[in-house]
Amino acid sequence: MKILLVFAHPEPRSLNGALRDVAVAELKAQGHEVQISDLHAQGWKSQIDRADFPALAPDARFDPSAASAAAFADGGLTADVKAEQDKLLWADVLILQFPLWWFTMPAILKGWVDRVYAYGFAYGVGEHSNTRWGDRYGEGTFAGKRAMLIVTTGGWEEHYSARGINGPIDDLLFPIQHGILFYPGYEVLPPFVSYRVQRLDAAGFAQEAERLRERMRTLASTTPLPFRRQNGGDYLIPGMQLRPGLGAQDTTGFALHLDDGSEPA
Ligand code: FAD
Repeated sequence: MKILLVFAHPEPRSLNGALRDVAVAELKAQGHEVQISDLHAQGWKSQIDRADFPALAPDARFDPSAASAAAFADGGLTADVKAEQDKLLWADVLILQFPLWWFTMPAILKGWVDRVYAYGFAYGVGEHSNTRWGDRYGEGTFAGKRAMLIVTTGGWEEHYSARGINGPIDDLLFPIQHGILFYPGYEVLPPFVSYRVQRLDAAGFAQEAERLRERMRTLASTTPLPFRRQNGGDYLIPGMQLRPGLGAQDTTGFALHLDDGSEPA
């Protein structure tokens, strides 16, 4: 398979750098082709702004979505953005790797998403009508491809458990896994999360490295998270609400969007 790993840590000699090297070595050992987007090494520009749209008239009001749609349609996006889009189209599997910073991805990676996920490429795809709300949440440009996160945290695993003070890790990662990966069509594999890493000693590192190698060996066979597909019948369209009766009665919030096998009323 072809794998794109987007790496968002400023220091190659960090734990994240070491885990990235472990992952890439294992992927190559398995015969996969790997490309890495090392955002800091590339000098990636984080913020989306007028400079991303060279064809925009200097006195025109800047509407990021409209400018993105026009530039994508006309081939007018900047070379750095086009190069990342080409890598995404090339890859069968996308891996986003980052340390958890303030409960989410570092700004440089969010900026990669903001700029690379153009209108017409990752959103605004497909027919939009009262009966069909575009190709998204399980459909779209990346349908048929897989994606996963590699994340390190300072906090303990218990602090990210169902009743943990930081909030459950599945909830914290939901906007990334469901909103950024599943939205444009990826099947999303469970994340690889390494907790409380400041305390990692050599033995702990060896253990985490082996756990990561195993995940890299099983990329093709791991069961994806069971996110409900927008156009699979579980949602009322155009209201975009889960049909009555779906989801356990006491389930609320993000967990509702995971298929639990319940039937509509
Ligand atoms: P490093 O600091 O590089 O390494 C961590 C430890 O791993 C080292 O001390 C060492 O023991 C070991 N190690 C490193 N390399 C190796 C190697 N090659 N072999 C063996 N052992 C090694 N944490 C949270 O939980 N929630 C947050 O919201 C959060 N917000 C943050 C916000 C900011 C701005 C920052 C800077 C940190 C935040 N943190 C948070 C902590 C952050 O998630 C961790 O610092 C990060 O995950 C550690 O990853 P690293 O690659 O930087 O590790």
